Amino acid sequence: MTHTDWTDRVQVRRAFKFRAYPARPQEGRAVRLLADHCDLYNAALLERREAWRTRPVSVSYGVQSAQLKDIRKADPDGQGRHSFPARQQTLRRLSTVFAAFFDRVRAADKAGKESKPGYPRVKPYQRFSQVLFVAGDGARWQPSGSGKWAYAAFQAVGTVKVRQHRPVPGAVKALQLTREHRRWYVIVIADAEPVPLPVTGREVGADLGVARFLTTSDGEIVASPRFLAASAQVIAGLQRRKARARPGSGNRTRIRRALAREWRQVRNRRRGFHHQTARALVNECDVIALENLTTAGMTRRPAPKPDPGKPGAFLANQARAKAGLTRSVLDAGWARFTSILTGKAAEAGRRVVLVNPAGTSIGCHRCGRKCTRPQQKTVICPVHGAIDADLNGARNIASRAGLGSGQAPTAA
Ligand SMILES: [Zn+2]
Repeated sequence: MTHTDWTDRVQVRRAFKFRAYPARPQEGRAVRLLADHCDLYNAALLERREAWRTRPVSVSYGVQSAQLKDIRKADPDGQGRHSFPARQQTLRRLSTVFAAFFDRVRAADKAGKESKPGYPRVKPYQRFSQVLFVAGDGARWQPSGSGKWAYAAFQAVGTVKVRQHRPVPGAVKALQLTREHRRWYVIVIADAEPVPLPVTGREVGADLGVARFLTTSDGEIVASPRFLAASAQVIAGLQRRKARARPGSGNRTRIRRALAREWRQVRNRRRGFHHQTARALVNECDVIALENLTTAGMTRRPAPKPDPGKPGAFLANQARAKAGLTRSVLDAGWARFTSILTGKAAEAGRRVVLVNPAGTSIGCHRCGRKCTRPQQKTVICPVHGAIDADLNGARNIASRAGLGSGQAPTAA
């Protein structure tokens, strides 16, 4: 095989979540599996904490993984029963948590903040809800075929029935056993080769917003779905009722459940909308550029609204809270939409470019001068006059990604 052959074989990793139905004894063993992995996770965490206290060094994943064999020998009926690669995955997971912690420490130091980020905490059993297995080594996937059930076999648990509602293309690499409240799920992680879509010649920058969900640099608009705003109102109403209900009363419990149901519905419908929107973009565009929200997105919180009637004053608390809630219902999905879009693009051989979002909304896309923004929907360039704010943002995103269509001057 030549070198080119090898690099051409890009694999796309996808995860499929299926409901699992362990028998009663299997469920008992699965609970024990989670508990044993939780013990391992916490022991490794404490070891790192001790080392950190004595002197600021970090214990690496490699050092901890090397101890697994000895731990197994010392505890044959506990840790010793479990899959070796699965326990390595649990240690890796802790390693990821620590890497994120050190990133936060560095970021806080850089920003000169006085409060230090919280040190990773010991997990209680009820909060430790997943174990990742390597397929073929401690776990095995048997797809449903013509029969009704698929099966997932896990070391120290057994072969569990799984409702497989869609096919899993590609090679199964890992299986994750997960508990959510009283339900169990198996997440099947598989690598498949992308199936490229025909070239369309269209490349766009896309701006994500609140009033409009999405605006492309060539002028296509995807409106924010109305059901989100409607749900925001229902949720606001339920929250007001919950605040008035007596703590511990049956009424309050009912309201809390209704609230949870409404949020679940919002999440599901929003996910459907994201999939649909992403599907259309991927079908129609070869390259899609977006703002990179994983780095800067969290700073996009609703700012307190100044009261236009009284300079220096802010709108009443309730109005602000409601505006914040509406926004969070509407925009909480940007990062998720981006990840759905990125996944679909990878499967289809399309390209997604994430650009630095700094200043994309306020600079003029034609000359780069700083614009004023007297209204949410319009920016005014001192030279080029009023421009639709979302379109301006989308064109800046396209230029930043080096896409031609973003720099196309507007006639008029
Ligand atoms: Zn301009």
